Amino acid sequence: MSEPLKDKVALVTGASRGIGLAVAMKLGRHGADVVLAARNPGPAEGAVSELKAMGRKAMTLPLDVSRYEEVVDALESIHKAMGKVSILVNNAGITKDQLLVRMKPEDWAEVLRVNLDGTFFCTKVFSKNMMRSRWGRIINISSVVAVLGNPGQANYAASKAGILGLTRSVARELAGRGVTVNAVAPGYIETAMTADLPEAAKDTLMGSIPLGRLGTSEEVASMVAFLAADHAGYITGQVIHVDGGMVMT
Ligand code: NDP
Repeated sequence: MSEPLKDKVALVTGASRGIGLAVAMKLGRHGADVVLAARNPGPAEGAVSELKAMGRKAMTLPLDVSRYEEVVDALESIHKAMGKVSILVNNAGITKDQLLVRMKPEDWAEVLRVNLDGTFFCTKVFSKNMMRSRWGRIINISSVVAVLGNPGQANYAASKAGILGLTRSVARELAGRGVTVNAVAPGYIETAMTADLPEAAKDTLMGSIPLGRLGTSEEVASMVAFLAADHAGYITGQVIHVDGGMVMT
């Protein structure tokens, strides 16, 4: 298999399960050394062993992206253990769903803090070395609801729409330094985040997905790996929808 990401160091946030874990494995299969970060990254230890067996450097990292100081410290520890990060995948995300009238201000704030502030913190901290070395890839995981909205997810949709504005602005700031910044907007993907949807809600959902099924983490990971490679160097500031056709622009 070709290894287009050989000798690149990738940091994937929220990599202990679901989409983040699939992204980390995919980047590793494509040749990258990988840091798998999460608040509790223990479940990703098996992936680290697999990546090492492929000949990659790999490590887990306890990191809460909503704490700026932790992100700053992460830069130092990754640098010592693996080298400079040139691929950043801002994937960590949470939901705290509730209709607006019942939504607690603290649940609004927490979702914005993790999903949007966390993306800003990691981008701010890890883009510096990418700019210096004049090569970098920042890939932000947004969501179909950033564009469509969703009842019960005002906080989540606002955070994911915020990521799109952040992506486009930073793409313009960093373009002259060889760093591309793109967003991937998944539709409904089979992970822990969607596992609890009631069957009736799933049936309604299927009717709104032109391809008529949930997506897989692997399908999102394939798009991230595409954007991370040299061959995607002329794509920046874009939102790529991996959603079975829910959003067509
Ligand atoms: P999961 O809930 O399965 O995984 C979320 C990951 O994020 C876990 O590794 C979790 O680990 C980590 N995480 C949560 N909070 C933090 C934090 N503060 N700092 C660091 N890591 C954190 O989610 P999915 O895999 O389903 O989703 C991944 C991303 O894709 C999210 O951004 C989500 O919004 C987005 N998305 C998902 C869709 C879906 O249908 N599943 C659709 C559209 C977008 P830990 O708890 O240990 O920190």
